[in-house]
Amino acid sequence: MGVLVDTWSLGKAYATTVTTVEPRPDLAELDRPALEAALEARGHKRFHARQIFRWIYKHGVTEIDAMTDLSRELRATLTSDFALTRPTLAQRETSVDGTEKFLLRLADGRHIESVFIPDTPAMTFCVSTQVGCAMACAFCLTGKMGLVRNLTAGEIVGQVRVLADALNLRTKKFNIVLMGMGEPLHNYDETMRALRMLADEHGFDMSARRITLSTVGLLPALERLATEDVMPNLAISLHAPTDLQRGELVPINKKYGVRDIIDACKRFPLSRRSRITFEYVLLAGANDSPQDARKLAKLVGGVKCKVNLIPLNAAPGIPFERPSDEVIDRFAKIVADSGVTVSVRKSRGRDIRAACGQLIVEGQKPSAGQQLAVVAFGG
Ligand code: SAH
Repeated sequence: MGVLVDTWSLGKAYATTVTTVEPRPDLAELDRPALEAALEARGHKRFHARQIFRWIYKHGVTEIDAMTDLSRELRATLTSDFALTRPTLAQRETSVDGTEKFLLRLADGRHIESVFIPDTPAMTFCVSTQVGCAMACAFCLTGKMGLVRNLTAGEIVGQVRVLADALNLRTKKFNIVLMGMGEPLHNYDETMRALRMLADEHGFDMSARRITLSTVGLLPALERLATEDVMPNLAISLHAPTDLQRGELVPINKKYGVRDIIDACKRFPLSRRSRITFEYVLLAGANDSPQDARKLAKLVGGVKCKVNLIPLNAAPGIPFERPSDEVIDRFAKIVADSGVTVSVRKSRGRDIRAACGQLIVEGQKPSAGQQLAVVAFGG
């Protein structure tokens, strides 16, 4: 295949045509219908896709040759026709509270972080959907990175493959929260493809009830999500009861305001038992007054929901403070007294800087070199 390559030399650009080999499709990037089609196109039987899914996701193999219920010949042709990749584990840190942070290296050398939170009461994997994030929320360290790139579905599911093996949880039940780096609805197609792959009965076979998607509320994507067949639990990063306050914290609020988000939540199809979670990062003096609590309770009162208060994980470069415990309790009590279910998110993994929304891998700007410093802040 001919590819145009720009070569820059002494300020002049030359266009050269080079011949490259078409990359082999990666089995880890294919959902089952796509894998069935790819197999059929190469003259193989579609049902092998089920076997391959079982090997990759249920048994955790990383080599096609280890798929021993496929014939030797088939394994050999698959190995020449397909790649099978997964992110590599670059670093692993364990907190005194059992939270574990995983630094994963992707095929292009970029890094992401995933977090394991044990006993909450379930086992929970906190997974990234992008390298960096474009949302630039005022209190979030990942937002400071800007968006480097979207993750592919295979890279999103790949985090689950790596963590499940590293933690020996492949055969156990665990939850997944899309609350790592990135805004899942800003990477809609790959995120949804990842959810379908995770739900596949021949793979991880995850019930969508065990998966929570957390979003700032990109409205068109939220409306689209409402029509999907695989429907995760929904968490909305609300953080303030008025457009004036929220606009300061979550820049995209200028486009999709508080009212519109609440209306979309009211229309969102919920199963009988499920509720929308509103996440609310508590910031001293910015959104933590009794009046804010009353406004919040009134705002979400018409939605089948619960409120999850997240006391800020303060960090250098973040221009906010965490409120005192008294202020946090007072806020929670006002919300609860008005009849809204409320919880305060417990601080996990602070000593290894692995907290929610606080994952950042520096030195990854699109133009930057590969020098790497991990400065994730826990809480
Ligand atoms: N982009 C998505 C998911 C990633 S962030 C979203 O915004 O929902 C997961 C949660 O962590 C969000 O509610 C986010 O607002 C919160 N968060 C970000 N920075 C934080 C901080 N410094 N302290 C506490 N929570 C934070």
